[in-house]
Amino acid sequence: MLHIGCHLSASKGYLAMGKDALKIHADTFQFFTRNPRGGKAKEIKENDVAAFLQLAEAHQFTSILAHAPYTMNACSADASVRQFSRDMMADDLQRMEYLPGNFYNFHPGSHVGQGMDTGIAQIIEQLNAVMWPEQRTTILLETMAGKGSEVGSRFAELRRIIDGVALPEKMGVCLDTCHVYDAGYDIVDHLDDVLAEFDAVIGLERLKAIHLNDSMNPMNSHKDRHAKIGQGSLGLEAICRIINHPQLQQVFFILETPQDTLDGYGEEIALLRSCYQRD
Ligand code: FE
Ligand code: FE
Ligand code: ZN
Repeated sequence: MLHIGCHLSASKGYLAMGKDALKIHADTFQFFTRNPRGGKAKEIKENDVAAFLQLAEAHQFTSILAHAPYTMNACSADASVRQFSRDMMADDLQRMEYLPGNFYNFHPGSHVGQGMDTGIAQIIEQLNAVMWPEQRTTILLETMAGKGSEVGSRFAELRRIIDGVALPEKMGVCLDTCHVYDAGYDIVDHLDDVLAEFDAVIGLERLKAIHLNDSMNPMNSHKDRHAKIGQGSLGLEAICRIINHPQLQQVFFILETPQDTLDGYGEEIALLRSCYQRD
């Protein structure tokens, strides 16, 4: 079964997102935990969460995905930015407990010239400061395009982070198709090889979600500009091979394509469902 949804605005609450997902035949979605540029999180309304959980169960939703704000940088050279980043993640994870058993995705960070080793050490430090043994959320590291000094454009970097945290059983990976292609992994012509490499370096059991995006730029461009499905360098055929791949049937897919309307996402979901060939 194809589990698919898209990024939605969280401004009207969880129930509203659930209803939007239903309108476009999605059974999951992604949302920002707070303004993507940072700032204060919206207050959790317990009746809104309860109504959403009921809707999700009635319509057999799969897991949903929270996305941390872009301003989070666990490996900034500035200690006050690192503290801000840590506080945001700690608060986000507490709030995620209202939706137990779901996923929280974040960009590992940009080491801004401190070097990969320092960057990775600081990311591990943040994770160890905010995670706790009873948390019910799995934290996902997003694969990055390798823009600037981004950490996480190589599978080995993600592996080093997972190996460094005290609670690795609560860690997973979200693979962004635009990002990995921009990072130089050829998921268009060598998907099997890339998945084999992912499995060897990280382990496919860590792969929980896929951000399904086409890319405006060629492989290895390190750019990170998302394109609509079928309108970029990956192309519809390659994207359909991804959703149909036998090793990717346990993950859920989230569209982060540059759509202005819910209907735009609805059309992409319909297109992808039409090229899904498993039951
Ligand atoms: Fe992201
Ligand atoms: Fe993404
Ligand atoms: Zn991106």
